[in-house]
Amino acid sequence: MNPQSDDLNFSDLTPGELSFAATYFDGLTSRARAAQAQVNNLTLLIRSEGLEVSYPLRGVSIEPPLSRLRRVLKLPGGARLETDDRRAIAALERRLGRNAGLSLVQRLEARWLAALASVVGVLVFLALFVQYGLPALATLAAQITPPAVLAALDAQSVRAIDGDYLKPSTLSQARQEQIRREFAALAAERGGPYAFRLLFRDGGDLVGANAFALPGGTVFVTDELVRLAKDDREILGVLAHETGHVEHRHAMRQIYQSLGLTLAFAVVAGDVTSAASVAAAVPALLLNSGYSRQAETEADDDAGHWLMNHYGTTRPLQDILKRLIEQDGPEGRHGVLDLLASHPGEGQRLAHLRAIEAAAK
Ligand SMILES: [Zn+2]
Repeated sequence: MNPQSDDLNFSDLTPGELSFAATYFDGLTSRARAAQAQVNNLTLLIRSEGLEVSYPLRGVSIEPPLSRLRRVLKLPGGARLETDDRRAIAALERRLGRNAGLSLVQRLEARWLAALASVVGVLVFLALFVQYGLPALATLAAQITPPAVLAALDAQSVRAIDGDYLKPSTLSQARQEQIRREFAALAAERGGPYAFRLLFRDGGDLVGANAFALPGGTVFVTDELVRLAKDDREILGVLAHETGHVEHRHAMRQIYQSLGLTLAFAVVAGDVTSAASVAAAVPALLLNSGYSRQAETEADDDAGHWLMNHYGTTRPLQDILKRLIEQDGPEGRHGVLDLLASHPGEGQRLAHLRAIEAAAK
């Protein structure tokens, strides 16, 4: 093997030779050869019994000092040189201007890897925050949101919903008044800082038989749901479920959880425009993202106990849920409004309502 021409500038190399005792592995066999290594300006020359090889220095990399005793030089073609002469290797490192045996490319790679590692670290942190931190923060934020903010959100949302999703009710005024009176009695029992009110709307093809609540206590019920009910106890069971969502502040929690990161980024970036568009996105968010299974269970729990207290049974809510399931089919109306938005899970919800009744007897 001859020294190759080398266009690298080793001007930092000081003249003179450096030699040290080493063990040479040729990369082809596992045989260890006692050798003498000699470093000239651009070449590493290795002499062993009956063997003399040379490598261009630019092809040599010095491994980081992993062991206190041995230093390792990696050579082209899988060969390696090990030595106990740490001073010689240190001198070689100084000559080559290499730090801990890393070539420039390797150093850049190391820096790139460090950058990648920190990006991965940030992503892991964000993922953990989204998974564990954000829900807890969202719950807390929902609990301490002032009633005035809830009322403002209700007003803004009602306008958007009426514009895009629902049409005026065709129920008679008398029928509306009757249900409103029943709902007022239910709402009066709930208390809290909420402005409970009931709005009747035609659900049309998009919404159909359904009901849902806004954060401040505005509850929508569609004509289709009123007509689907065989008696008003069923409607009240549904409305008790909706007031449950209001009291547990499920909608606010949902808003904070969905928009939390967007909002956080907007605040960090000082982006007022996107903060405003976050507020504008709230109505669509309320309509399109169903509650969690746990939120539905809490609302059913409230409704179930209210029904037990007033009628001694949870059957009215069970019955209308079953009728909704039959009507919607297994696919249901995905993501639109409450009640059956969270497919699957009706089976568990019915079982839960039966269990509340069984526990009371
Ligand atoms: Zn619900």
